[in-house]
Amino acid sequence: MAILIFFGVHWQLSVLFQSVFLHRYGAHRQFTMSKRAERFFHVLTWAIQGPSYLNPRAYAIMHRMHHAYSDTPKDPHSPVQQGFLAMMWRTKTQYADLKHRRIPVEARFEGGYPEWKVFDETLGGWGAAIGWGALYLAIYAAFATHWWLFLLFPVHLALGPVHGGIVNWFGHKLGYRNYESTDNSKNSLVFDYLTMGELFQNNHHKWGQSPNFAVRAFELDPGYQFIRLMGLVGVFDLSEAQVARWEPARIAGRRVAVEPSQSPAILAAPSPMDGE
Ligand SMILES: [Zn+2]
Ligand SMILES: [Zn+2]
Repeated sequence: MAILIFFGVHWQLSVLFQSVFLHRYGAHRQFTMSKRAERFFHVLTWAIQGPSYLNPRAYAIMHRMHHAYSDTPKDPHSPVQQGFLAMMWRTKTQYADLKHRRIPVEARFEGGYPEWKVFDETLGGWGAAIGWGALYLAIYAAFATHWWLFLLFPVHLALGPVHGGIVNWFGHKLGYRNYESTDNSKNSLVFDYLTMGELFQNNHHKWGQSPNFAVRAFELDPGYQFIRLMGLVGVFDLSEAQVARWEPARIAGRRVAVEPSQSPAILAAPSPMDGE
């Protein structure tokens, strides 16, 4: 039982920090925080993701490419362009190339992400990853009551890629759409307990600067609830945040959502993604 709780808590916290810190803050700047808070969340993301800690700069650049080239041949991880394993392999290769600065990056994808070279170059490598793996193994050795529980152990080592794989695949493959778009983004769950809101890909591709990925009354984005809480206690600043809206209107007998450009009250905060 203790192992199952450990697995569940590690899964949820890992995807929460990937979603909130690396994705919504790091790649998109949907909200702001002080430099001190940014460092704190940087360390916390490292400590929680452990052996599969994702470098914030590489993550942000790859993710901005995903938005700019969504589901086209230049998308780093589109399930429309290739099968699951090929998608995972391409993501892994491209991420490694970005992390080790082996490939050129378009200027528009650079900047505005959390950068902490000393930290990432020392603690973001293999040494720390092996340390985390040994710690998890010790926890399993101490608390596992059945042999089959050890089948869960390798998942802890790869939670970052596991969550990425689920979101990148299902979020552009399976589910319903609230908005028309040229890509294949989908909302896979109405209450995304599995990846803390990341599976509202269709909503997110429409309102890229909104920290809330849920737009309809029946949709719930747990990651946003955490962000809202951090906003209430003054750690995150959401005053400039974009507000995603579900505003269906009957045009020629068809339900369509209102375009952001038709709602002058909804203005995106300046971001590296502007101009897309
Ligand atoms: Zn997407
Ligand atoms: Zn995004």
